[in-house]
Amino acid sequence: VDYLSSFKSLHENASSFFDKISTKYVENMSCREGCSQCCYNDDFKINSWEAAVITDWFLNLTPQMKSIFYTLWTKEQTKGLDLKGKESSPCAFLYEERCSIYSARPGNCRAQGVPLLIEDDVEHCPLNFIDLKVPKEDWLDKNRLNKLSNFAQMTFQKHNESEYFLKDNMVLMSKLKSHLMGLL
Ligand code: SF4
Repeated sequence: VDYLSSFKSLHENASSFFDKISTKYVENMSCREGCSQCCYNDDFKINSWEAAVITDWFLNLTPQMKSIFYTLWTKEQTKGLDLKGKESSPCAFLYEERCSIYSARPGNCRAQGVPLLIEDDVEHCPLNFIDLKVPKEDWLDKNRLNKLSNFAQMTFQKHNESEYFLKDNMVLMSKLKSHLMGLL
């Protein structure tokens, strides 16, 4: 569906910003493959336009890849510590400390790790930028990203087609995983 491509560019922009910052601050950030503490956050909801992007990604996989993911997603997941040190369940898509939907992951996951301007405050992962004050031009404006995401959600609600099953504004990650597994 065409409008999904414009939604995907929101994700690509968030990822480009992350790449720029992680290259500039390579010495000051812990983000790397296998560092997944920010994915231990119990089950959470995403906008249904993002669930549609993930569904679209899944539908375009080869039958062989789909069944590899199906098998992976039936495996048991174990709890771990979140960024505050509290025991939490992992995201429904986290396996072996890696995101199994990495190329289609939601915008919040793409922004995680860089300094985020949220309302009037700036925050970032406690494992990053220790003892470093990051200048404003290197903050990601989360307020703006949220506005764009809400706009995408309104567009999606207008065009939503039954193939995406997504009647609600928000979708739980665990429900989305079950939905994808049911598409096989
Ligand atoms: S979608 Fe991927 S990156 Fe986002 S919380 Fe889940 S496992 Fe982590």
